[in-house]
Amino acid sequence: MLDIKNLHVNINDKEILKGLDLKINSGEVHAVMGTNGAGKSTLVKTLSGHYDCEVNDGVVTYKNKNLLEMDVSQRANEGIFMSFQNPVEVPGVNNSYFLKTALNEKRSYDGNDEIDAMDFLKHIKEETGKFNIDRKLLQRDLNDGFSGGEKKRNELVQLLMLQPDLIMLDEIDSGLDVDAIKTVANVINDMLDGKRSIIMITHYDRLLELVKPDFVHIINNGKIEKTGDYNLALELDEKGFEGIGIKDESKWIK
Ligand code: ADP
Ligand code: MG
Repeated sequence: MLDIKNLHVNINDKEILKGLDLKINSGEVHAVMGTNGAGKSTLVKTLSGHYDCEVNDGVVTYKNKNLLEMDVSQRANEGIFMSFQNPVEVPGVNNSYFLKTALNEKRSYDGNDEIDAMDFLKHIKEETGKFNIDRKLLQRDLNDGFSGGEKKRNELVQLLMLQPDLIMLDEIDSGLDVDAIKTVANVINDMLDGKRSIIMITHYDRLLELVKPDFVHIINNGKIEKTGDYNLALELDEKGFEGIGIKDESKWIK
């Protein structure tokens, strides 16, 4: 699915990723952890094609294609989805209209007919209904004035509608109450069909308890410094980053 080799990325002329390697097979769930500012968001932003991230070296292969040559829309159309750590508010763009447009772009890329308004509503009702996600937010503008939790829920709705192949979730669980985390986990587990792959950035054990990762990686000093299974997350929870031998050179808490 995804093969990252020696990835070097600058943000604002500062090197954030310094030769990161990561391989993700079809069907695998990878958790990415690390201290604040370690470069977790930079990794997924780079993969989604965010303009902040300047790739200086390295090779990224996605479904046997050169990912770094694709623009943002092509990456999305090829099945890459990223849920933002801080979803952007877009006043003036109706949420439902936005979702339908995104879905139809993908359908057109795949050679399918556009979905009409009625079928779209039926489809969204079915998908959100499975997880008891309310649909009131669809009538409002995209993320405009949404609470933190509502923004995260709205990311789930996008995920359900677009049915991507590589799902990247950047702290989707942060700031959510216990019930909302359960809903997030239910959606993710439902998406896991043995083919889709997931990169899940999180600080908390709770989500990982509900969605068991195959691998847990810790990013530090621009690289993946440690890889383990679910037990690594448990150990981290118990001992903290320093306790498991992660020394962050740029640490802002002295
Ligand atoms: P994480 O998600 O692991 O907490 P990030 O990938 O968001 O960390 O950030 C890595 C580093 O890059 C941090 O030091 C952060 O301040 C810096 N950074 C991220 N985005 C920008 C930006 N737009 N301009 C300047 N620095 C940035
Ligand atoms: Mg982040």
